[in-house]
Amino acid sequence: MKILVLNCGSSSLKYQLIDMDGEVVLGKGLCERIGIDGKLKHSGKEEYAADITMRDQTDAIRIVIDALLNKDHGVLNSIDEVNAVGHRVVHGGEYFSSSVIVTDEVKKAISACVQLAPLHNPPNLMGIEACEKLLPGKPQAAVFDTAFHQTMPPKAFMYAIPYEMYEKYKIRKYGFHGTSHKYVAQRAAALLNKPIETINIITCHLGNGASVCAVKKGKSIDTSMGFTPLEGLVMGTRAGNMDAAIIPFWMEKEGLSVKEVESILNKKSGMLGLSGVSSDFRDIEDAKKQGDKRAEISLDVFHYRVAKTVGEYAAAMNGVDAIVFTAGLGENSASSRAAICEYLGYLGLAIYSQKNSVRGQEIDFSAHGSKVRALVIPTNEELMIARDTLELISN
Ligand code: ADP
Repeated sequence: MKILVLNCGSSSLKYQLIDMDGEVVLGKGLCERIGIDGKLKHSGKEEYAADITMRDQTDAIRIVIDALLNKDHGVLNSIDEVNAVGHRVVHGGEYFSSSVIVTDEVKKAISACVQLAPLHNPPNLMGIEACEKLLPGKPQAAVFDTAFHQTMPPKAFMYAIPYEMYEKYKIRKYGFHGTSHKYVAQRAAALLNKPIETINIITCHLGNGASVCAVKKGKSIDTSMGFTPLEGLVMGTRAGNMDAAIIPFWMEKEGLSVKEVESILNKKSGMLGLSGVSSDFRDIEDAKKQGDKRAEISLDVFHYRVAKTVGEYAAAMNGVDAIVFTAGLGENSASSRAAICEYLGYLGLAIYSQKNSVRGQEIDFSAHGSKVRALVIPTNEELMIARDTLELISN
């Protein structure tokens, strides 16, 4: 069984072709600058890169199919070898609590969620419609970033604003990175050799976008991102939690428009705004080593915020068995993991520094006798999408 996994963004498209017998990645790549000019980076039998015009998602997917079939760098003899397509879809609103096979009804519901994710759902939908044209008859599955969090109870997802705002506009916490949180939680249970239904896990997806999730007996019961991915932790360029009153104050003082405030909060805040160095944690860690005070403070703010959120979720679940670190920073930065874990001694967590210095691979870096396990688990959203797709087409 071969599954093509697609993650269609507004100007980029990531793909992987996975052979589910053995879960082997046969080929993968990235289309960039869609709608501008077009660049393909493909890795299959051979590495291949080219500038190719991509007017839209349909063009990009056609180019991906050609790359997969190419006799030099491709990995397929015929497109018929692809059994199904799995799409990452960012927002499933309250419609989807699990992955689904795409139907007209499903497409309508994804459309209805466009107002909740105006930058993401339209290109996701365009990718689905392009595959209907280019791969007619192939089953397609939609795997939502929000679905895993649909198990959150109202006490976790309701905001304390007039209830009509929820009824009228569906303003509530949805949470994101669900596919990643679910994948690493399942891996953690497997590594600990315990049924997931018997343990509580806190998963920390710390990348450019960052969120923490409380996974109680296999189900998400709370997460730090909210109505949009702006809520929660401090991120590369996103502010995360702050007093909402700052917004009207700012608008009045600086004469800012709604669009301008939105842009500052999403693109100029977070680690970039705080440090003034970069949105990239590696640059900020380097600047701190050079004695940059703002870089040091911004890292302190980041670690403190993650640790506080872990504390909240340990309370929400009345205890935690394992804390998992994943994504760019979570998988690679030993110093950030150590700084966060330093706050968590009260939970009975102790780490083993030597194991913590291992990079980019699955490892339990908690000390012998630590009451709470600390794990690094590289995320694999593509594999999770392929697994869900396979399960759906097999049923
Ligand atoms: P996203 O998918 O949200 O764009 P990633 O999960 O790729 O983000 O994470 C990107 C972040 O991870 C960047 O800020 C980068 O600096 C950080 N990162 C990657 N490798 C390292 C490392 N070795 N040390 C510190 N930070 C790292």
